[in-house]
Amino acid sequence: MTPDVRPLVAGNWKMNGTRAALDQIKAIAEGVDGPLAEKVDALICPPATLLYVATALSTDSALMIGAQDCHQDQSGAHTGDLSAEMIADCFATYVIVGHSERRSDHAETDHLVRAKAEAAYAADLTAIICIGETADERKSGQTLEILKRQLAGSVPDSANAETTVIAYEPVWAIGTGLTPTVDDVEKAHAFMRAELVARFGDAAKTMRILYGGSVKPGNARELMGIANVDGALIGGASLKASDFLAIYGAYEVLTA
Ligand code: PEP
Repeated sequence: MTPDVRPLVAGNWKMNGTRAALDQIKAIAEGVDGPLAEKVDALICPPATLLYVATALSTDSALMIGAQDCHQDQSGAHTGDLSAEMIADCFATYVIVGHSERRSDHAETDHLVRAKAEAAYAADLTAIICIGETADERKSGQTLEILKRQLAGSVPDSANAETTVIAYEPVWAIGTGLTPTVDDVEKAHAFMRAELVARFGDAAKTMRILYGGSVKPGNARELMGIANVDGALIGGASLKASDFLAIYGAYEVLTA
């Protein structure tokens, strides 16, 4: 955790969820409507097909809704893509950019991720910019070098703590049940904080840096209690309302 930073617990549903899954959104929207909502933000990023209905379902709740990707252009001949403006038009307020699955499945570069984050800002969306090393990069001791390069390349010069959230997601920890040690997470997050402060000044002291990669109800409290870890980006465990709410609920103890 970071002093004076409001944590964010965010779920990334990826390509999962049909209308039947809206029950989970409803349950999450109800579940986050307690006293903890005064201290902790909650966000679900469902597939684009559910965005508009999901925002309607959570209108009267503290739950926020986001998208999983956006195109860098405002509009045009880009079959199958969504613009940031379209996402905002669904009343969503966040968008994930540069997730490792987008980087690997769609060959997205840091340069493109930066352009997508800029498109998000232009539509008044908060961008969650994902970075993280692969298993091979970690084995060869390049973790911090990769984080430095991805932060420099993917985060726009105009980023600030209101418009931008960084998500550190070691690629090898995503969907594998593996997580880095507490010490490794602490070192990576301290390094990212220092890089951000060196570039953006004191304002970056409150920019949220999430940890993502196999966060579950059983390890949430330990991971989110680490210095400079300002919340979580959760894949698999966010699909079930009870698991997402258990992770969110870890902050009852952490913020007590
Ligand atoms: C993710 O893909 O953003 C992620 C963190 O997935 P999981 O929690 O399933 O590892």
